[in-house]
Amino acid sequence: MDQEIGDQAGIKSEATAVSTGTIVALASGALPAAIAVIRVSGPKTRNVLEAFCGGVPAPRHATLRDIGPPSLPAIDRGLVIWFPAPASFTGGDMAELHTHGSRAVVIEVIEAVLSLDGTRLAEPGEFARRAFENGKLDLTQVEGLADLISAETEAQRWQALAQAEGSLRALYEGWRAELLRAQALVEAGLDFADEGDVAADVALKAEAIVTSLLASISHHLADRRGERLRDGVRIVIAGPPNVGKSSLLNALAKRDVAIVSEEAGTTRDVLEVHLDLGGLPVILIDTAGLRETESKVEAEGVRRALSRTEQADVVLWLVDATAPVWEPPVALGTKPAICILNKIDLGPQGTSEDCIQISAKTGQGLDRLIEVLEEQAALIAKTGSGAPLMTRARHRVELEDARAALQRFGDAPLSPELRAEELRIAAHHVGRLTGRIDVEEVLGAIFGEFCIGK
Ligand code: GDP
Repeated sequence: MDQEIGDQAGIKSEATAVSTGTIVALASGALPAAIAVIRVSGPKTRNVLEAFCGGVPAPRHATLRDIGPPSLPAIDRGLVIWFPAPASFTGGDMAELHTHGSRAVVIEVIEAVLSLDGTRLAEPGEFARRAFENGKLDLTQVEGLADLISAETEAQRWQALAQAEGSLRALYEGWRAELLRAQALVEAGLDFADEGDVAADVALKAEAIVTSLLASISHHLADRRGERLRDGVRIVIAGPPNVGKSSLLNALAKRDVAIVSEEAGTTRDVLEVHLDLGGLPVILIDTAGLRETESKVEAEGVRRALSRTEQADVVLWLVDATAPVWEPPVALGTKPAICILNKIDLGPQGTSEDCIQISAKTGQGLDRLIEVLEEQAALIAKTGSGAPLMTRARHRVELEDARAALQRFGDAPLSPELRAEELRIAAHHVGRLTGRIDVEEVLGAIFGEFCIGK
């Protein structure tokens, strides 16, 4: 495997090439719990089962066993599952010990495993890293798995599961195969440079592949819903001091997360609340009052508020019904802004048909506001069951580089040698997405598609 790729993806933390030895770790969550799952993987897994689980059980069958050194009273009694290579998560020999979830049991079982030569504690992510190194998962699946573990809403779970199961891998591997095919065609054209017809024919075929790939990659790059869904739709609450921004955040979050005060300019920092709106993740951001100020601290708050607003997907412009300021400052002008008229409980009200009328204090109008926010979040992040979407900046960076190479292939009148080089660059970047770079594949594509008679 290309070392650089692992580094880039954060998979490999140090220069060591492959993960070796037999590793052990608690795979389940915080203790104490009803059950704990201890994972063991590596060549000594059999020895662990023989030494501490009364022998190696039938593969992939949960078997009740005494766990611990045989000469001593058992540490615990639990289910043991044996996953011989290659049919395991890591692709190597692996076992799961399901014990009772106390600290005492888990520590003693792990210490027993560590007492065997050739075993050690696993590094963070090392089981997944082995799965990658053994070809069980590509990088996008490893990323999908990480997202699945940290998914907070239904839609995030859904997207992460699809990615962990290989939706992006299939897409990117398909693109890479096409690039290798185009590269093979261009390189074959070099061999047939003397035969003008053949050279022109393969060049046309390669161009058709590149045109179609460019369209697909551009379409994929233009769609940001996958990233929004993974990271959360950013909704910023903005407005002059004292309109009720903090009160609204609290009312929506149904808990006290922001300082609510009658004094203007008390919200001097930016507060964030993560919400689940109709299965979609939303980050609600309260900003400091946007106004001219003498106070330095508050000025910093205003600066941050403006910068948050620039990163927002949606801005809620809050208007005080008793002292309406209808127009947001120019800085908010380019974002989808929703006008909200607050404090309608205080009447007589300033009115505007374009504004959603609420009272952060009494809760009036909040249901309607939440509906509108759900609609907005769905517009920005709802992905449906179509083609898989990119979910990370890493994907975007590699695909932009790949697209640039394909554009150079098409734009300038390049020699076949340079065209082949651009395709090689594009394939390299797409290969980095999945972590599979292999020169043999190019050769395979050339020899597989063209029986050049040798
Ligand atoms: P911010 O500066 O925009 O964050 O405003 P706050 O949330 O701190 O609210 C300023 C003041 O307005 C506080 O005294 C709140 O209790 C009050 N307030 C906020 N929303 C409402 C509302 O809907 N009705 C009434 N009557 N008072 C409100």
